[in-house]
Amino acid sequence: MSVLYDRVALIGLGLIAGSMSLAMRRAGIAGEIVGTARSAETRAVAAEIGLVDRVTETAAEAVQGADLVVLAVPVGAMDAVAAEIAPNLKPGATVTDVGSVKRAVVDAVTPHIPEGVHFVPAHPLAGTEHSGPRSGFAELFDNRWCLLVPVEGADPKAVDRLRALWEAMGANVEEMDADHHDLVLAVTSHVPHLIAYTMVGVADDLRRVTDSEVIKYSAAGFRDFTRIAASDPTMWRDVFLTNRDATLDILGRFTEELFALQRAIRTGQGEMLFDYFTHTRAIRRGIIEAGQDTDAPDFGRAKKVQ
Ligand code: NAP
Repeated sequence: MSVLYDRVALIGLGLIAGSMSLAMRRAGIAGEIVGTARSAETRAVAAEIGLVDRVTETAAEAVQGADLVVLAVPVGAMDAVAAEIAPNLKPGATVTDVGSVKRAVVDAVTPHIPEGVHFVPAHPLAGTEHSGPRSGFAELFDNRWCLLVPVEGADPKAVDRLRALWEAMGANVEEMDADHHDLVLAVTSHVPHLIAYTMVGVADDLRRVTDSEVIKYSAAGFRDFTRIAASDPTMWRDVFLTNRDATLDILGRFTEELFALQRAIRTGQGEMLFDYFTHTRAIRRGIIEAGQDTDAPDFGRAKKVQ
């Protein structure tokens, strides 16, 4: 495949940026990949393992001469990073991000983007519970969705080129409005994470079940909650603070359903429970049929990460 951007700057060198670097190399679509991170430690690890072609000390340095700049930091850090890089952006460059919330990022970053620079927000729907410069892998985006959220008046050529980049990294691309994105993600990702955090917190509080029993018998369902609840605390704090309205909306509906099920259990409404679980099973089948998960008993999880 031919080169899409002569120089790409990755701001942040964690799971998503690292995976992008490896996926871009696999596809041969970036001339040079420059990267930077907040801490000297992350920069040193990235340099040591050759995660990018060149590591710079600051974000301002990293974006110099870059044709594509990717903001791959927690959502709450986007504003400060955008302010830092703005004076050094190359005219005609494209700035994008990978944040899990879109309205807050659009509002925080857009005011910093200079005339003649294109801003095309994006969100790859792919991740793991791991973070940091050693956690990335080239296949992360294969057959996963990447949602592009072009702002009003976005340059179609800049959007098309970014779409080609994500497709070359293995993703399927669709465009979506920022507010709709945040609502969809509240249902499919944000609230499920909150529920997992809560469930693991509950087990931790339950002194009648010992810690060793929780760990030993976790394969019965709890294990899948613990994997999600091991996700990065900074990233998830920022997600809930910046996608507050949609999260609270979906959480309200969730609580109503929970009360309905609670009542059905208390009053012995077996038929209601059976019908409810039959319906949810069909949703699971739909996800497998869409190729977004496997029906292996261990969810396709490799033995070593159980
Ligand atoms: P990560 O592995 O924790 O990496 C985050 C990177 O951002 C690190 O290099 C970190 O530098 C840097 N950083 C943190 N705070 C910063 C700050 N205040 N200023 C400048 N740099 C800062 O995170 P990630 O999973 O790649 O997530 C990055 C973005 O992708 C987030 O916006 C997240 O919402 C989004 N996202 C995540 C997933 C997922 O499942 N993980 C999926 C899709 C999208 P140091 O290492 O030096 O601290």
